[in-house]
Amino acid sequence: MQAGGDYTSDEPREKCGVVGVSLADREAARPLYYALYALQHRGQESAGIVTHDGFQQHSHVERGLVGDAFDEEDLASLSGGTGIGHVRYPTEGSLDKSCAQPFSVSFKSGSLGLSHNGNLVNADEVREELAAAGHAFTSDGDTEVIAHDLARNLLEEDLVRAVKHTMNRIHGSYSLAITHDDTVLGVRDPLGNRPLCLGKVDGGYVLASESAAIDTLDGELIRDVRPGELVVLDPDGAGYDTYQLVESESTAHCFFEHVYFARPDSVIDENLVYEVRRTLGRKLWEESGVESDVVMPVPDSGRAFASGYADASGETAADGSPRPEGEDGIEFAEGLMKNRYVGRTFIMPTQDERERAVRLKLNPIRSTVEGKSVTIIDDSIVRGTTSTQLVELVREAGAEEVHLRIGAPAIIAPCYFGIDMATREELIAADASTEDICEQVGADSLSYLSVDAVAEALGESRADLCLGCVTDEYPFDVEGEKTDREIASPSPDSTLADD
Ligand code: AMP
Repeated sequence: MQAGGDYTSDEPREKCGVVGVSLADREAARPLYYALYALQHRGQESAGIVTHDGFQQHSHVERGLVGDAFDEEDLASLSGGTGIGHVRYPTEGSLDKSCAQPFSVSFKSGSLGLSHNGNLVNADEVREELAAAGHAFTSDGDTEVIAHDLARNLLEEDLVRAVKHTMNRIHGSYSLAITHDDTVLGVRDPLGNRPLCLGKVDGGYVLASESAAIDTLDGELIRDVRPGELVVLDPDGAGYDTYQLVESESTAHCFFEHVYFARPDSVIDENLVYEVRRTLGRKLWEESGVESDVVMPVPDSGRAFASGYADASGETAADGSPRPEGEDGIEFAEGLMKNRYVGRTFIMPTQDERERAVRLKLNPIRSTVEGKSVTIIDDSIVRGTTSTQLVELVREAGAEEVHLRIGAPAIIAPCYFGIDMATREELIAADASTEDICEQVGADSLSYLSVDAVAEALGESRADLCLGCVTDEYPFDVEGEKTDREIASPSPDSTLADD
């Protein structure tokens, strides 16, 4: 989706999962289907697979969860040993099926399939140029823009060169899984904003947004795809080639993947998400620990934070002094039970529904909270709906004090690059102090984690992270917004030196 202003409720938000496989002597459809299951948390609005059997391309894209989008017949129709898949995040408006992915198109020099996670910041500009050159668009999504640009380049040059020129033309965040006939490609944007990794599976190779998808296929993670890199899988599953097509001085890895979005069992940019969250929890204790009877997570993502927080509290007291011998730290306990069958509260279109959804989704365990001072740990506060409801619920269940600790800095600005984060007007921290927010959510105390703690936990410098949502300065040039770097990506007209 074109960035350049705050999201409105009916704009598509490209928060998605991508996968690609190339297999020898095996059909790709089923492994792709399993991999999409592993990436389901990255998108629940639609699911799709495009395969190629050496002669022709096959596609099936459907609204809904992976399990509902495909039946046996659909999978059987997706023949061929190479293919890509996509899961798309729900939008608040109705689904425009033309935006569902993978996007597929046939043109003079073959067929293309494209799965995209991320957001371009210059899609309108590229679209206008392509439209002027005679390209007809069927959707308003930026994925089709990438596909058309690539198709145009492929008419004149080889695959690697065509990808390189497309990468030089488009700006913003993108992790792509592409099929060009029976060749599968993986591309990561020059700043590596969204994740993409490469793995080995029996009889072939796989590219996926998260390594958990590779695990699901009984495969082994080889490494992250590097920012600005193209990976080309051999159609026979025998190997792969890599090309560093764009070099950048810095990266802009999205820290929020680690905080909230990715699965804890995934390794992203060499960090196991679970361990990052535990470290963030430890830092939360060190920065703003509060002595209470019990620390409890908001399931599921808060769990790793709370366990790190509880561990660290056994080593030092809240004032930073060593914990006296024989004195225990804060007890970790489950105080909130989650109803697994309720979707993410975030996607409820009205505030009233969102509030009801929190109560549907989470219920306190009375014995954990009754008569106690409790610390609740969540990964983030966006609109403040969850925190407000939880503090109320936990008080109703008998808690005497309720402290809130958040495993990320305050979210003060929207995300333009792939996380559905609400508009600036909706963000509770956009124009309120921590004290004000504490009062609004009704907690006894509230603390966020510092930006430096996040960078330390990820082992990266601030300059190599995308921190736009917590600093209001972005790594890409978004119209009307500040950037945190000199040149975030090649200028629109620059042409990379040829190989
Ligand atoms: P809110 O209730 O609006 O303050 O949202 C905060 C809750 O939503 C936290 O429990 C987070 O785990 C979760 N959350 C944070 N970011 C997102 C997101 N991008 N999409 C869906 N849920 C989110």
